[in-house]
Amino acid sequence: MLFLFHMAIPLIIFEIPYLKNRLEVNRLTILIASLLPDIIDKVFLFFGIGDGRFISHSLLFLVISVLLIFLVNKTLFLTSFSEKIKNSYSIALSFFIGIFIHLLLDLPNIPLFYPFIEYKKYYFFPYFGAAITSWITEFFSNPILISTEIAGLIILMFIIIHNKLYSPKKIWQYFSKTQ
Ligand SMILES: [Zn+2]
Repeated sequence: MLFLFHMAIPLIIFEIPYLKNRLEVNRLTILIASLLPDIIDKVFLFFGIGDGRFISHSLLFLVISVLLIFLVNKTLFLTSFSEKIKNSYSIALSFFIGIFIHLLLDLPNIPLFYPFIEYKKYYFFPYFGAAITSWITEFFSNPILISTEIAGLIILMFIIIHNKLYSPKKIWQYFSKTQ
């Protein structure tokens, strides 16, 4: 559970001028996708399925969800055909980057090839509250986790200052525009 680090890393990649100038991405999509594997798998865990890193921490989920996002975007949104295609690629790319980097940061303890390769649960929680207690204990007893979250916070602050996101309007523009 490293929210800040998971959000910061894919966002900072697109602050690199070379990539920023060449690739069109939607940062809101990146942000949502960067947290999605944890959100989905923690909901599963809440219902007693998996161990918090389950089906959406797999390559199969990555492929299917990116395809779905691309097709939904292509079919439903925007007006002109060329705009549709262009925007669908940007949204699908943003979604891919968000999830792909999430999986990279969670390696090696994720069921990457589920369901093709049988995986043993990495964690065992008798009930959901036990999972929360275990995450909190792990967080405060593991200096690596604490330092990566602090690093995540610093990176996010850098992005805010670098892009002068000093008002809710500016923040919204930064995230919502595909640029
Ligand atoms: Zn995760």
